[in-house]
Amino acid sequence: MKGFAMLSIGNTGWIEKERPACGYLDAIVKPLAVAPCSSDVHTVWEGALGDRHDMILGHEAVGEVVEVGSLVKDFKPGDKVIVPAITPDWGSLESQGGFAMHSGGMLAGWKFSNFKDGVFAEFFHVNEADANLALMPAGMDVAEACMLADMVPTGFHGVELADIKFGDDVCIIGIGPVGLMGVAGAALRGASNLYAVGSRPTCIEAAKAYGATEIVNYRKGGIVEQIMDLTKGKGVDKVVIAGGTSEKTFGQALAILKPGGRIGNVNYLGSGENVLIPRLDWGCGMGHKIIAGGLMPGGRLRMEKLTSLVTSGRLDLSRLLTHKFNGFDHMEESLLLMKDKPKDLIKPVVII
Ligand code: NDP
Ligand code: ZN
Repeated sequence: MKGFAMLSIGNTGWIEKERPACGYLDAIVKPLAVAPCSSDVHTVWEGALGDRHDMILGHEAVGEVVEVGSLVKDFKPGDKVIVPAITPDWGSLESQGGFAMHSGGMLAGWKFSNFKDGVFAEFFHVNEADANLALMPAGMDVAEACMLADMVPTGFHGVELADIKFGDDVCIIGIGPVGLMGVAGAALRGASNLYAVGSRPTCIEAAKAYGATEIVNYRKGGIVEQIMDLTKGKGVDKVVIAGGTSEKTFGQALAILKPGGRIGNVNYLGSGENVLIPRLDWGCGMGHKIIAGGLMPGGRLRMEKLTSLVTSGRLDLSRLLTHKFNGFDHMEESLLLMKDKPKDLIKPVVII
């Protein structure tokens, strides 16, 4: 089969590989739509996972099941499925402890284009199909459904990590597709004043549509000054981080956070040895300002619940999709869009 791969750091291209084999509990899926992710960009151009060779990229897909293992109960060839980016081993001790995304080791629930080939291929393998696949509702748009693989669960997980409650004043730092789903999730969870930090006009418009009450443009002034001004010096109850840097962003988040507040980080921190936490803004270690960071959870139950937010009309995913392509020939073009982040981009998708 053909797959679009990372050939080495900074290089991508099409390669030929054996079609993956299906285990007893597993499924082989052929993609109907795939989306490149900022994480693919970190993998290829920043060498985030090290110097990988001929590794098929991609972890965001919806597809059609073509084969299932003999012990798979709930899925069969022909089923249209949403495939979460994170596909844990559900029998692991980490899963039993409530952290399935770390099954087999920290971050090891992330298997696609990490421990095995990813989804930018004619076929890909899904472990533990009954636990890791979700049926795509009939009539759901495949491009929108593809946003359920990673963007929705990750943005919403930022909201869970920050533990946003009714009436909280919230700041979402970063309003790419992940942060936008943070905005949508925070609004669904009952945030009152919802400050969204970003600069690209298309993302700003989408943030307003998803429920942001104020936009803070970090290129036009300091985040801390702007938020403290807007909140009349009080700061916010919760912060979700979905963009920014290891060096600056946590300091800004702590500076705008009230004592007792929580930060939920889902941003991938790709540079520097250390994350800088400013001592004074963290209350000299005694400010009850909790920092939580996490990888998106996978799991069929969660995916089905997130899917029903879309079918019930509570969550509109069409706004995320600014660039739609038809056919695998556009794989490279769509990945380069994610790398270059033009002003009119939120998220590209490739329909196969
Ligand atoms: P984007 O690059 O599309 O969005 C990043 C956002 O952060 C943009 O709004 C950008 O603003 C803003 N930003 C950039 N620099 C700064 C800064 N210095 N201060 C404040 N805001 C800034 O990324 P995605 O939405 O695709 O992904 C966000 C992150 O989530 C990535 O790091 C990705 O790897 C990670 N991720 C994590 C997952 C998880 O499970 N935890 C899963 C998937 C992704 P501007 O408008 O100027 O572009
Ligand atoms: Zn992704």
